[in-house]
Amino acid sequence: MVKHFDPACPKCEKKFHVHHEDLRHAGIKLLCPYCGEQFHVDEAASVVEHDGTLWRPSGTPSR
Ligand SMILES: [Zn+2]
Repeated sequence: MVKHFDPACPKCEKKFHVHHEDLRHAGIKLLCPYCGEQFHVDEAASVVEHDGTLWRPSGTPSR
């Protein structure tokens, strides 16, 4: 089964679908398909895992 997760863009806050296989290499940035923002997963506004778990990266400032 291919794992995936749905990060929310820190810029436009829209969620999109990412496969873990796309992130096999550490340090790769996610590309928001809506606004073109590039960000690391730990910079996402929030992340919904494939099992439905929602978490917020600890480094995200609350604004
Ligand atoms: Zn965006």
